[in-house]
Amino acid sequence: MNQINAAIITIGDELLIGQTIDTNSAWIAQALNQTGISVKRRVAVGDQKAAIIQALDEERRNADVILLTGGLGPTADDITKPLLCEYFGGKMVVNEAKRAHIIHLFSEVLKRPIIERNLKQAEVPDVCTVLLNERGTAPGMWFEQDGKIFVSMPGVPFEMMGIMNEDVLPRLREKFALPPVLHRSIVTAGIGESFLAEKIAGFEAELPPHIKLAYLPNFGMVKLRLSTTGSADTNAEQELEALHGQLQEAVNDVMVVAEDLTIQQYITRLLNEKGATMSTAESCTGGYIAHIITSLPGSSQVYKGSVVTYANEAKMNVLGVKQETLKAFGAVSEPTVQEMAKGALHLLQTTYTVAVSGIMGPDGGSPEKPVGTVSIATGSAERIYTQTYHLRYARERNIEQTAVLALNQLRRFILGLV
Ligand code: AMP
Ligand code: MG
Repeated sequence: MNQINAAIITIGDELLIGQTIDTNSAWIAQALNQTGISVKRRVAVGDQKAAIIQALDEERRNADVILLTGGLGPTADDITKPLLCEYFGGKMVVNEAKRAHIIHLFSEVLKRPIIERNLKQAEVPDVCTVLLNERGTAPGMWFEQDGKIFVSMPGVPFEMMGIMNEDVLPRLREKFALPPVLHRSIVTAGIGESFLAEKIAGFEAELPPHIKLAYLPNFGMVKLRLSTTGSADTNAEQELEALHGQLQEAVNDVMVVAEDLTIQQYITRLLNEKGATMSTAESCTGGYIAHIITSLPGSSQVYKGSVVTYANEAKMNVLGVKQETLKAFGAVSEPTVQEMAKGALHLLQTTYTVAVSGIMGPDGGSPEKPVGTVSIATGSAERIYTQTYHLRYARERNIEQTAVLALNQLRRFILGLV
């Protein structure tokens, strides 16, 4: 089957001045890629007629599918809809289904009075297929011309994703008879990308050309993902399964899990299986570890809570860290996180806990403890294990990296690997 090529055009003045980060095109590119459609170009333009038309004219030359987001709001600066109507030679008509949906949204969901400007959102070019958009007032629009497909979606990411998942991707799959792209993943930890590549060089060299292997590193954990690239072969699934098995053997000693899971998903599952609970005592992460765990539905089964003790007094008053410990070793030290862990286990009554304290930067470093120094304790009633790490990023990434390291250390602790 021929390769289907796509282009993405994101529209909005706010994108060009960098006020809004264009997350839509990254999300759409991933979704298309997983569907077996190849994204050839991504273009951002402002809310100007000439710029949008130029982008449409240019992208249709090489792409089979052109996806657009933005410019569909009810305000005057959003011009995409009338422009597309003119571009495809249609006239504006009221779409009754969308009109009913907008009225329902305002009267039943938002419980707000509706104004003419909102109802106008139900007007669409008569030359498109309307994609309703359950999540908002602006409908998506699907046009076909000269064998090319054009889809216009709202800029609001949540609405765009709904239209993509519910309408656009299923329609594209059907239109181009795309076989599902299959993936099998393995998450590894404690080994760098290049060492991992050395380790599985033999396996990689033997891979058939229609199976791709991707290295997806994230904060010291590397995900390996095997994908079939859209061959219609009915044995694709068994073939992928067998290769997944071989790869697991090849990376056995560094494997976390042979599925596409984040470390927090893995930890909550592991605790669930053991009927165990956990807590956190956080200094430098300020509750971030608690946040990524509690973002998972069902985490209340295993997660009891966090104590955020940022200042020394809080570490002493809430968690019972001793003043002498802080004086002798400092807030970022193994003895301190050890006492924080003991305090959290006692306060929150959990099977396991993890305590972190570190210097996230840009200030606060010293020659003995430079920015990026982090001590992590993982503990249970029986024992506590501590380790110190050295990170090299800026503040925000250091915090994210600390969370991953903490949860990975907890994994090793629970499994008896440390
Ligand atoms: P619009 O459809 O142009 O009214 O866009 C509505 C809102 O969606 C804008 O105010 C932005 O906050 C957001 N938005 C628009 N385009 C993008 C994009 N490419 N990536 C992320 N957010 C966007
Ligand atoms: Mg806009």
